[in-house]
Amino acid sequence: MNALTFYIILFSVYATCILLMFLYLRYKGFFKSGIILLIIMFLIGVGLFIKRRSCFRFFRNTYTQISISTSCNCKTTASALALKKDNYTHFHRPLAIKTSQNRYIKNNALLEKFIQKKYLVPIEENNGFYIQKLHNSSKHLTPLAYKRLLELGNLFRTKLNEPTEKKSYFVISSVTRTQSQQEEIIKSNPKTATRGLSTHSFGVSFDIRCTKAKRTCDPSINALKQALNQMQKEGKILLCPESSCIHVTVVK
Ligand SMILES: [Zn+2]
Repeated sequence: MNALTFYIILFSVYATCILLMFLYLRYKGFFKSGIILLIIMFLIGVGLFIKRRSCFRFFRNTYTQISISTSCNCKTTASALALKKDNYTHFHRPLAIKTSQNRYIKNNALLEKFIQKKYLVPIEENNGFYIQKLHNSSKHLTPLAYKRLLELGNLFRTKLNEPTEKKSYFVISSVTRTQSQQEEIIKSNPKTATRGLSTHSFGVSFDIRCTKAKRTCDPSINALKQALNQMQKEGKILLCPESSCIHVTVVK
């Protein structure tokens, strides 16, 4: 459910309130319980407005995605997507430093400070993507990186032509890491983890682990490939396809 649908529902609740009030005033004699209904409807409207973010999330998860599960069935690996790789040392890292104005998230104190100053914003699942339970990273990105993630989710959905696969989504498995979280990852994946400064420690990177499809993988894998390709060509993102995920760095 998008914001427009929600506000239409909210408007309908209040329109019913006004109608009830009219009926109550017009036919007081046999509509005495109208005022109670009116108060109930008004309170429902207020409650919906206060809890609107939870409502968005509930309806989005229920109706716009296939049942949410991190056991997604289509792996988004380098071999599955065959994307053009941008060199990590020459492009990902220097451009992450530049885009984030060198805001390296060395520790939790800096993470908190950058969140307070709104250099990093909290992120949540939205149209076309789901964020799995994160280990060694937090659900934050720079405002620009979040904007591009939302754009990628929407673009991915527009590329899904197969009617049965329209509700597919991709799964984000890692987002922003402090230096110590990055060190933990190196410890557990000594062969594959990035040494030195990781672009995840600048709040501009996220990893896509898989897509969740209803029946067959090809439509969602192709849609993701097309969406990533397009944004890479537009110079908005850099890509580093890996053996277990697609690493994305937002640069513009
Ligand atoms: Zn990564």
